[in-house]
Amino acid sequence: EAARLAAQAVKVDARLQEVQTIADDTEKQRAAGQLYVPETIWMLTEFCGDVFLQILKLLVIPLVITSMITGITSLGDIRKVGRVGVYAITYYFITTTIAVLIGLILVLVIQPGTKSDDTFAYQSESVSAKERGTPVEKLLEVVRGKPGDPGSGMFPANIFQAATSTNVLALIVFAIIFGSALTTIGEEGEIVIRFFKAANEAVMKMVHLVMMIAPVGIFGLVASNIAKNGGAAGFGEQMQRIGWYVAAVTIGLLLHAVVLMVIVWYFGNKNPIKYALGMARALLTAVSTASSSATLPITIECVEENNGVSPKAAGFVLPLGATINMDGTALYEAIAVIFIAQSLGIQLGVGELLVIFLTASLAAVGAAGVPEAGLFTMVIVLQAVGLPTEGVGIILAIDWFLDRLRTTVNVFGDSIGAAVVDNLVVSRA
Ligand code: ASP
Repeated sequence: EAARLAAQAVKVDARLQEVQTIADDTEKQRAAGQLYVPETIWMLTEFCGDVFLQILKLLVIPLVITSMITGITSLGDIRKVGRVGVYAITYYFITTTIAVLIGLILVLVIQPGTKSDDTFAYQSESVSAKERGTPVEKLLEVVRGKPGDPGSGMFPANIFQAATSTNVLALIVFAIIFGSALTTIGEEGEIVIRFFKAANEAVMKMVHLVMMIAPVGIFGLVASNIAKNGGAAGFGEQMQRIGWYVAAVTIGLLLHAVVLMVIVWYFGNKNPIKYALGMARALLTAVSTASSSATLPITIECVEENNGVSPKAAGFVLPLGATINMDGTALYEAIAVIFIAQSLGIQLGVGELLVIFLTASLAAVGAAGVPEAGLFTMVIVLQAVGLPTEGVGIILAIDWFLDRLRTTVNVFGDSIGAAVVDNLVVSRA
């Protein structure tokens, strides 16, 4: 018996040795940056990912321009929006700011991107070419642009150059002002408004189409990302980080929902629990569609019928809010971008954090109320702080899930805005 056991022990030992050798080899290959998949499969995977990323970027400009102009012009003559308009926009502004702040604080405290033993260095030129300046310089640069570059800044000297260099921030600012102006020129403006409305619908259709091929694209991006960053061993590390990232976004969204409930209690004069329960159907629709725009009819119904908000307030705050008031998206953009920087081992200074604060809010304003729109506009934030846009590859695989959560908070934020405006303006008129 002893001899049999001894023989077995030798066998097990040999097998252990074998496994160890394989592990060592893998580690060596990993260290040498070699790939574990045959070249052609690898190329094809990377190809799918690249094309998908390019299509995402391709749609950013048409999506932002048409959705912003359509959103603003849906208000009618901008000079007549009056107190309802002013209060609604102030509400959007304040809650979006709170959301980004919550996101920033959480991601800096939790540090999800550093949650593994070894932070891999991402190969990207834009990182090494990154310049740093003082916080004030950074902020001024976002507004004024880089000296000698007419396409940069919030008010670029040349709007076409801004579009060519994907300066989406400038396009958002331009679209808001252009859309507002359009509403003030009477019937003459109608034809252009209709043009943009139709264009917006067509672009939304294109986004739906892209989402059909998304599984293949996301597979490509994620797989090549894993292969580039250490294969199976790197995958484990990434998963750990992603887990923390999902936790950070989820906690942030929950915290913001609580803040919104306090707001509706204090400024909306409503019982927050009852209000949230009244919104249940809309919130569930938001979870299942991942689209504020698609949820809009149900949001209006819940706000008016279950929560007793006047149609005047609901009719103004909700449709505009579905395109420009996205608290969940703003919070998520801030966390996602800083998470990407942390994962790439890039330190961000105070100036960059300020820029993220500003651009994440605007990226949320610019995002249309359709699935994954926030992912498109994240390019704005990444570019503003000089991070590689391929960085989104890190968070893509899980985005379908977070999209549902943030959309729910987006819808909830709009509905609370309707109650607040109703209480502060309409019911006191
Ligand atoms: N899906 C979100 C919405 O419709 C936008 C986003 O992608 O963040 O509200």
